[in-house]
Amino acid sequence: MQLIDGKKIGEEIKKEIAERVAAIIDAGDEPPHLAAILVGEDAASQTYIASKERACKAVGFTSSVYRYNNDISEKQLLDVVDFLNNDPDVNGFIVQLPLPGHIDSDKVLQRINPAKDVDGFHPVNVGRLALGLPSYLPATPAGIMLLLERYGIETEGKHCVVLGRSNIVGTPMSLLMSRKSKPGNCTVTLCHSKTQNLAEITKQADILIAAIGQPEYVKADMVKAGAVVIDVGIHRIEDSSEKGYHITGDVEFEAVAPKCSFITPVPGGVGPMTIVSLLLNTFKAFDHEIYS
Ligand code: NAP
Repeated sequence: MQLIDGKKIGEEIKKEIAERVAAIIDAGDEPPHLAAILVGEDAASQTYIASKERACKAVGFTSSVYRYNNDISEKQLLDVVDFLNNDPDVNGFIVQLPLPGHIDSDKVLQRINPAKDVDGFHPVNVGRLALGLPSYLPATPAGIMLLLERYGIETEGKHCVVLGRSNIVGTPMSLLMSRKSKPGNCTVTLCHSKTQNLAEITKQADILIAAIGQPEYVKADMVKAGAVVIDVGIHRIEDSSEKGYHITGDVEFEAVAPKCSFITPVPGGVGPMTIVSLLLNTFKAFDHEIYS
């Protein structure tokens, strides 16, 4: 069994990005600029935005955060989106979810200029992904594709089972793995909460990608010997340790790992790749790689 070290790969890619940014600055140009809109005090959102800011700083990107209280109106938020859409100094931006209940998240996300939509959630980018056209890929699935690529994991002709069909992870993951590409070219089965005989299906997986949001749901008897297991889940479980909690994934790691050819740990597997993918999307925006 080989561990897929997302932390290490993430650091390698950040170093590559930093070198490119240094060359841009040396040439006297402005570095890429990633902005974020953050509404309210949600703890997980604050943590994510703080790590985004740290990652930007580490590679030399300009980073800005537009913070608002929970009582911001939908109209005011749409005005901020318009402002960033039109700000020539901002290459790409994200709207951190969740938004307060009185704001229609879809309306806000659809207001983002697709050329600046580095989260890849705008219908134009999702449509381009579905058609196999160049687009900003959602960060977590893109990070998983990078891990498969960097570890040289063969995917062509393999059976990939994706657990979970969310718009940000499971569905785009299934599209990417079925694309005519490398990594890709898999036969994909997409499972969800209404799937029957789930274990029978997961046992057929050469590559199993778990994104169901259920702590340690995937047990050893659901996994084929020699499978590649990618664990997207992140769960904070309270315990009696000094810290008072530990982090676990959607896979029961200790029992499943010995059966696998490759497996991502949690933490340190998929997680660190998500922000790296966001940085790469920002670079694509800076380079006008997708929208000229
Ligand atoms: P989500 O929106 O809650 O979607 C979960 C999906 O799993 C749904 O499609 C649901 O089916 C399905 N599901 C739930 N229970 C199931 C069961 N018992 N059997 C089969 N399918 C089941 O979750 P998400 O946003 O995709 O996130 C999934 C996990 O990844 C979470 O733990 C999240 O914290 C983590 N995550 C990690 C990163 C990262 O950077 N590492 C990024 C994003 C998310 P239905 O559609 O039928 O409801």
